[in-house]
Amino acid sequence: MTAAPRRAAATPRGAAEATAAGRPARAIGAAPRRAEHPRLARLLHRHHRPAAAVAVAAVATLAGLALPNLAPGGPSAVPAGTLPRLWTPTTPASPDSVTTFYAAGAFATPQTGGMRMVPSMRGPLTGKVIVIDPGHNGRYSRSINERNYYTYGAGWRPCVQAGTTTYTNVTEHTIVWQVANRVVPLLLARGATVVLTRPDDDGYGPCNNERPEIANREGASLFLSLHVDGNEDKTLRGFYVAHSTKMAGGEGVQAASAAAAQIVARHLLNRTSLPGSNYVGQPGNPVYVRTDLAVLDGIRGAPAVLIESGNSRSPADVAYLTGADTQQEYAAALAAAAEEIVLTLPADLAAGPSSASPAAPPEASRPPTTSTPSPLPTATPAPVASPSP
Ligand SMILES: [Zn+2]
Repeated sequence: MTAAPRRAAATPRGAAEATAAGRPARAIGAAPRRAEHPRLARLLHRHHRPAAAVAVAAVATLAGLALPNLAPGGPSAVPAGTLPRLWTPTTPASPDSVTTFYAAGAFATPQTGGMRMVPSMRGPLTGKVIVIDPGHNGRYSRSINERNYYTYGAGWRPCVQAGTTTYTNVTEHTIVWQVANRVVPLLLARGATVVLTRPDDDGYGPCNNERPEIANREGASLFLSLHVDGNEDKTLRGFYVAHSTKMAGGEGVQAASAAAAQIVARHLLNRTSLPGSNYVGQPGNPVYVRTDLAVLDGIRGAPAVLIESGNSRSPADVAYLTGADTQQEYAAALAAAAEEIVLTLPADLAAGPSSASPAAPPEASRPPTTSTPSPLPTATPAPVASPSP
């Protein structure tokens, strides 16, 4: 055996085409034969609404969220010419959608992933695909999640680690899943197609080397990876935005990612009460440059950033990240940032180096699988100088 992942890496199965289990994906708008997901089944049974409303509601329902009312009306004009310092988000609307959900458990193996949602209305981001990566997974298995995979830039890395847990015992994977689900309808309302790298908060999800490939296959215009940092010092708090200078897409993608990080940081600073980090980056500029983030380094054609949304040991950060209103505020700032990034940064970034992804080194150089992982829930504290997602 080579050290290559056991999965069929060349399988061109797009996230929208089929489930990992080989079952055909089912559109919500179509007559439901049998809902694989019990909560989705209940939703479909109860609501005979237009597909658009069902789609958005389903996203919120799966996350246990209340939705803001989306005002009807035509798509708003995209501002032209000089952009304001703080992007003014548009509020488009108009109906129609076909949304595909995957059955819970469809991604019990970590090698594929994604839940693709087609917008319910036209808007400034019509035709654009945004990939949101809620970090980590709902479940953790040593045999799956500690297996090493070769990743561009970062080298051999475990599939995906458990993530941190707040001092109040809320897991990182759930916080970022909730935030992601709040972002989704805001982007759909702008006309974007949104892909989540995992379909639920109850599975093993894709590995970190696969998540950027989802964005690559989708031809995404933006990749946002959401995390919460785990620093044991409870006085350390605030968000920071990481970008990579060692990406498969090369210099154009790296430059766009650096610009995207600045845009995200600016929106979060201006639109939320969440402060910038007091331990990473610079005051007023909580941006962190990395070369070893597997989940970003594999990106070939889109700006990509990773946001550490706060510190899981900081009472103030935890209160912010677990509160419904503050989560919504955070999501709205992310959506506004996403809109600015997609509409203002260069669109054609796909011309990276043709040999972007190096072949994995020989098996002999492969390090042993990481030592004994701790069971969930477990904090993964990061040193100040090198926080880990
Ligand atoms: Zn994380």
